Amino acid sequence: MSTRTVVADSLAALPVTQLKGVGPRLAVLLARLDIHTVQDLLFHLPLRYQDRSRLLPFVLLEAGMEALTEGVVVETKVTGDQRRTLKVALSDGTRHNLLLRFFHFSSQQVAMFRTGVRVRCYGEVRQGYHTLEMIHPEYHLQHSALPTATDHAPQLIPIYPSTEGLQQPTWHSLMDQALAWLARLPPAEYLPAEILTPLALPSLVEALHYLHRPPLGTSLSDLTERRHPVFLRLAFEELTAHQVSLRQLRLTQRAQLAPPLRGDGSLCQPLRAALPFQLTAAQERVLTEISADLQQERPMQRLLQGDVGAGKTVVAALAAAQAIEAGYQVALMAPTELLSEQHHRSLGAWLTPQGIAPLWLAGRHKGKERAQLLEAIASGAAQLIVGTHALFQDAVIFHRLGLVIIDEQHRFGVAQRLKLRSKGGSAGGAPHQLMMTATPIPRSLAMTMYADLDLSVIDALPPGRTPIVTVAVSDERRDEVIERVRHACQQGRQAYWVCTLIDESEVLECQAAEETAQQLRAALPEVTVGLVHGRMKGSERDTVMAEFTSGAVSLLVATTVIEVGVDVPNASLMIIENPERLGLSQLHQLRGRVGRGAVVSHCVLLYHAPLSALTYERLSIIRATTDGFEIAERDLALRGAGEVLGTRQAGAIQFRLADPLRDQQFVAPAQQAADLILMRHPEYAAPLLARWLGQHEGYGQV
Ligand code: ADP
Ligand code: MG
Repeated sequence: MSTRTVVADSLAALPVTQLKGVGPRLAVLLARLDIHTVQDLLFHLPLRYQDRSRLLPFVLLEAGMEALTEGVVVETKVTGDQRRTLKVALSDGTRHNLLLRFFHFSSQQVAMFRTGVRVRCYGEVRQGYHTLEMIHPEYHLQHSALPTATDHAPQLIPIYPSTEGLQQPTWHSLMDQALAWLARLPPAEYLPAEILTPLALPSLVEALHYLHRPPLGTSLSDLTERRHPVFLRLAFEELTAHQVSLRQLRLTQRAQLAPPLRGDGSLCQPLRAALPFQLTAAQERVLTEISADLQQERPMQRLLQGDVGAGKTVVAALAAAQAIEAGYQVALMAPTELLSEQHHRSLGAWLTPQGIAPLWLAGRHKGKERAQLLEAIASGAAQLIVGTHALFQDAVIFHRLGLVIIDEQHRFGVAQRLKLRSKGGSAGGAPHQLMMTATPIPRSLAMTMYADLDLSVIDALPPGRTPIVTVAVSDERRDEVIERVRHACQQGRQAYWVCTLIDESEVLECQAAEETAQQLRAALPEVTVGLVHGRMKGSERDTVMAEFTSGAVSLLVATTVIEVGVDVPNASLMIIENPERLGLSQLHQLRGRVGRGAVVSHCVLLYHAPLSALTYERLSIIRATTDGFEIAERDLALRGAGEVLGTRQAGAIQFRLADPLRDQQFVAPAQQAADLILMRHPEYAAPLLARWLGQHEGYGQV
């Protein structure tokens, strides 16, 4: 490398093509893995390590492990006509043997495995017919029957995640060079020492060096399971980068102006008075928080969390009323058309009597009708607009948009959330934003994911709810379950029958729902059965939903489209097929469709036996508790944050190394570190973000 001219003053500015052996072909392969600079290369961490530091006697070998071992050839033979196999039996002087198998070999190789030759080999141990075996191990012959002392340096060899055409030896040669550069041009340390030191985390240079070249005696399981301090050090830096980005976002946001929404109570008061129920203390508390925010000249950025059925919609309605009262427009966005229609209906029921008719904009509105709706929005004739994310198409022009409410916000990605912040404009600033979610997120995770938001929590359900009784029943007892549905419908109750499928294949899921609906119609001729699924036309689906809401349909067969938001209090029985295929939080959301009235509701988890121990545990959790927060915590512990938050959340934040659950203890220090960086070294922010979030679009900018 010394022969090359280097102009770069940092590893981040040093292209990989500066390394020996990196020509255009290799550069393309590396680019596929998002590796462009030497710094990128150093952040490409080994997936696992091979332990070649210990020479194991045969007695310690176990099927499944990769191991270095050694023995003497006792027999060599070639078997088979079509598929010739070279078999070499080794003995290490004990009664244990090891068989090496080769399917590709030369006659020269056969000749070399003479009886008595000592062979050292490395490979994966498998269980053969008679003895343990290795197939095509790496090996090396020693032409003496005497045991040799270790003749080459024992090593822990890193194995890198790779791409086709890029072999491990290439990685090793690249990393050798990259590590030499690391020593020459150590990357800047952005994390404040006063935070790192008490956490006992190593410096960046130490951590990188260690991860690529672990010294002998390192616990490899700590490294591969990512518990080792050198790994956590990098995860911590990533968390910090993430916090810096969210802090910046928040600062940018705070620097914007928003219209202060101070009303005179002329709408809120009569609306409250007309509600058929009294707000709970929890609802009152979050409303006070929201109302105070709305009166500020800075845009509100608030996340309203509340378990399913906690009563978030009425809070949204009262927030909307405050904005409208102050002379501003409000937009409410829901993730599905079904849900937006339902919101349109429930908001309409509360607000129309007060003279505010919400406008519903859906995909089905076309041509002239759509043009009229758009005109009503643009002119300000419409004060409250309900719809899906289609509300934020360019064609939709708002008039004095003062408040944006996003329901079930976890269904929208971070990128979408940010995009919304730019809408509004004409009101002379950014609109206030209220995000609502029924996905209970443990606090540490919320701090990580939503550090740019303020948090309000509705932590109690409205009174008069009877907890849902949940049972798990094998699908062998399907007939009994059908009888139960018949009985419920005879009593004037309504029921859901939810069909799920494994591979997220919507087509198959809809087919399953259609078949189930047919079977149930045949089995329950006296019951009116409706069907909704994601591939029906919106209008058909809405018709069926309206029939279910009115009670004309007693049994609703549905796919998981009804998971969010649907509110039919008379429905008190839910059957969920194949519950083992759903995440706990999703089951909890689904189940939340019942238990909304005063009668005891039941949820039947119709599973397919046999259940794995893990599935059994998951279903037990659902049976044992109806507390969404507890379920989320346990789901998180069982599945990991990536899965819980990752499912169906296109734009959700993906960490490269950090795991908000495993790294909970680092969340608060990462926030402190972020604050210190922004306060003392704001110039570190950009390169830190580039190091960690560089390639990831979607956040970090407004
Ligand atoms: P979610 O928080 O899941 O969106 P909803 O807003 O759909 O819940 O409310 C669930 C049901 O509870 C609705 O029928 C709603 O009218 C009712 N509800 C809301 N608040 C109260 C309350 N304070 N007392 C009684 N019922 C309420
Ligand atoms: Mg809701």
